[in-house]
Amino acid sequence: MCQCSYNKIKGKGRSLSKGSVKKGSLKNGRRFPKKGTNFKYFSKLTYFIDNRAWVHEKVCMATLEAYKICEQMMPERKFMIMECSHRKGGKMFPHRTHQNGTSIDFASPLTKNNHPYHGDQWKGIWHYGLQFDEKGRCMRNKKIRIDFEDMAKHILALEKAAKKRGLYIKKVLLKMNLKDDFFATPSGKKVKEKGIYFARYLTPMIDMVHDDHYHIDFGFLKK
Ligand SMILES: [Zn+2]
Repeated sequence: MCQCSYNKIKGKGRSLSKGSVKKGSLKNGRRFPKKGTNFKYFSKLTYFIDNRAWVHEKVCMATLEAYKICEQMMPERKFMIMECSHRKGGKMFPHRTHQNGTSIDFASPLTKNNHPYHGDQWKGIWHYGLQFDEKGRCMRNKKIRIDFEDMAKHILALEKAAKKRGLYIKKVLLKMNLKDDFFATPSGKKVKEKGIYFARYLTPMIDMVHDDHYHIDFGFLKK
């Protein structure tokens, strides 16, 4: 097994997310491992050079535990983490948020002919360029579609792992015209029952890009 440092969590000390996702910073964050058994971080460039895979320690641990839960539930499914925060937070072009280590972009899980599909999942930053119609079908190849059920299962796993650490899912950003398909799935219904908040309005620019990934902001539960 590879013992390379990038397959471990990096960072130490007590994490502190200051300010908000729109204007904030991160102290003593953690960098995600580059990959695990059923997930990977999407780009070497942003991971190593630009240091954009950092989050609050609790967000890191909750995310990794959620992948363990998913591994049990859906062993065939692989996941991908996209943009997080800079090592010390702050502005991160082109995002308006992602400033204090509580925001993560997750690649939308895909299927091809109804089987988990990871072809485009593994193309690094190009994943952000994928486009889908209002039914979640890939514009380039309609056999490839967003797996809303697995997306919802992942969100439920995240919420469960977050709660254990005094966190919760504060906000999910998903393209407006995909939400009906998402909430129509069995697990999507459970997400709704739990009252996990999905943004009700997004500006056209922001809306347009939230099909190939869903953005999640975590919040801290008050003690
Ligand atoms: Zn985002």
